Amino acid sequence: MDAGAEIDELRAQLAARDSDLAARDSDLAARDSDLALRDAHIARLEKQLDRALEQLGRVAELEAELANLRELLGRDSSNSNKPPSSDPPGTGAKAPKKKKKGRRRGGQRGHDGSHRELLPPERMDAFEDYFPCECARCHASLPQIPHPGAKRYQHTDLDRDGVFRTEHRRHRVACPSCGHETWAKYDPNKIPRYPFGPGLMAAVVLLTGVYHLSRRRAVRLLWELLGVRMSVGAVSRIEKRMSDLVAPTVDEAVEHARAAEIKHADGTSWYRAGVMVSLWVLATAAVTVFKVLPDGQGETLREKLFIKVCGVLVSDRATALKFWAMKRRQICWAHLLRKFVSFSQRDGPAGRIGEELLGYTSIVFDYWSSFREGRLSRAELIARMAPVRLHVEALLERAVAKDIKGLSGSCEDILEHREALWTFVERAGVEPTNNHAERELRAFVLWRRRSFGSQSERGDRFAERMMTIAHTLRKQGRSVLDFLVACCTPRPEGEPAPSLLAAS
Ligand SMILES: [Zn+2]
Repeated sequence: MDAGAEIDELRAQLAARDSDLAARDSDLAARDSDLALRDAHIARLEKQLDRALEQLGRVAELEAELANLRELLGRDSSNSNKPPSSDPPGTGAKAPKKKKKGRRRGGQRGHDGSHRELLPPERMDAFEDYFPCECARCHASLPQIPHPGAKRYQHTDLDRDGVFRTEHRRHRVACPSCGHETWAKYDPNKIPRYPFGPGLMAAVVLLTGVYHLSRRRAVRLLWELLGVRMSVGAVSRIEKRMSDLVAPTVDEAVEHARAAEIKHADGTSWYRAGVMVSLWVLATAAVTVFKVLPDGQGETLREKLFIKVCGVLVSDRATALKFWAMKRRQICWAHLLRKFVSFSQRDGPAGRIGEELLGYTSIVFDYWSSFREGRLSRAELIARMAPVRLHVEALLERAVAKDIKGLSGSCEDILEHREALWTFVERAGVEPTNNHAERELRAFVLWRRRSFGSQSERGDRFAERMMTIAHTLRKQGRSVLDFLVACCTPRPEGEPAPSLLAAS
């Protein structure tokens, strides 16, 4: 087959695909505007719900803290003026039982922490018992006699062998000499502060932050698959804790991307509580980092995404990126190709210019793939591309001079980027397309379509951090779950946090 026919064939395929895409795009646009209305409403409701859940969780935490403090003071309703309702769990035996309508004492649905509903002993895999050493009153040493009213703390964790539950029991022992009852002390080094271990925390954020299940679905999945009961509020708090824990790790990756010699960038819209903001990806050979920004304007990108202008930036012709020196940029030829296809579909001179530009574009890609496959050396690539460059730029100049509506302006803009069209020819490691960044951004866009974005700034941070971790580790062939477990497993003092750069 001769080259001309091959190019024609390619063009026909491109044109068909393009009109397909255009139809799908307009379809999506219509659906998007429908959804926008519904988004705003759902966003309001979700926000209210999240706030309520957060407050419930906070109340439970405060109650637990209060109970612990009271206990430290050794006071409850039996030896102070505190009302019985203020007693920590487990001291209620002497308090008169109030009839409650159908509600159990302790954790109700929606609570966790110290107020979680305790599981029966047969559901536990292990028990840890704690006894007081000596009588708090007369210092006599005490026998280790288990107490039926021991304070129980249940801890659930998960690894690849399954769920593992441990019950920690603090006993009180009556002194054989003086009769005083002494509680075993609460030791935070032995009894975990949180009811869920690192493996379970990592699994939860993997479900919501990486696989993008809603919190409610994640709760249902944990229950159906593992028999683990967790409230939506607990999921929210785990997300927050994990988000804080991985912040330094993610910051390190962001710094790495900013300093990289070659980086791909792309942006799209994102919604926070129904308001449109901007989502950007910065991808290098080693890491992929995401940032939700208030808008996609040049100044914002400069101050919050890039910080410093360094290295070669591969991107489309977004005007917001004009602050980056042209000779240190590469404009995406896949974008140009789509533009030229749209020209070629027009009648008259516009169509002819489009055809001609498409012809050169196929030559550009042809030489590039020959180079990539080792059939052309760098020197040969440079030599062959030189006349193509002259032809393309001359053609663009002719197109500008013709003053054709909807074409000359675009060609003028492309010419403004003329220095940035050919960086890949000479610069090792630079590619002629931005497919890398676009691919990375697509997963996030799919999430946005399903979740309508985030509900808060905290949600944005969680989303961008989890996606940064997941995309970077996948690129490096590392396990996301193992990494998250390592991030939330307590480390000895001075040991550094796990790094996303470790493999690079
Ligand atoms: Zn005693």
